[in-house]
Amino acid sequence: MGTPQIEEPKSEFTCPACGRPLYDRRHLNCGYCGKAIPPEMLLTQAQADEIDKELAADQKRQQEVVKRIDALGPHIYGKYRI
Ligand SMILES: [Zn+2]
Repeated sequence: MGTPQIEEPKSEFTCPACGRPLYDRRHLNCGYCGKAIPPEMLLTQAQADEIDKELAADQKRQQEVVKRIDALGPHIYGKYRI
């Protein structure tokens, strides 16, 4: 057994000026150095909308899971009480 390796997600998009990862490609300027991001590295409006939709769907799924766990909660605790 070795040390568990934690893989850091690498962004393939980095600021050409300072080299830091672009945390939001919808911003026209780098969040670190403020330099303008080349248009070809920015998301199109359609791509941005797509990401927003996915995030919203993700959030909804998470809320559903939480709701389901909440609904199961008392039942589970009652059944497996030590
Ligand atoms: Zn930068």
